Amino acid sequence: MKVTADRSRCMAAGHCAISAPDVFDHGEDGLVVVLDAEPGEERRREVEVAEDLCPSRAIAILRTAAVAASSDAAAPETAPAD
Ligand code: SF4
Repeated sequence: MKVTADRSRCMAAGHCAISAPDVFDHGEDGLVVVLDAEPGEERRREVEVAEDLCPSRAIAILRTAAVAASSDAAAPETAPAD
């Protein structure tokens, strides 16, 4: 899984760092900092909680299957081999 946090949306509420302290922290400005942009699956539940609790919707989880599906959709069709 890949995780992003949009600092321009962050309002420094702090829920993410409490919910997933190995993945999120705060910078000196109080805004979110991503510590681990590709956390393992064992962190999924806590990252999903952080995403759900973020009041500014600044956190996004890029789900691998969705990324793969969009890549497949963007791939050009190829002719079958003779
Ligand atoms: S929960 Fe959302 S608003 Fe709060 S610090 Fe984290 S990213 Fe920022």
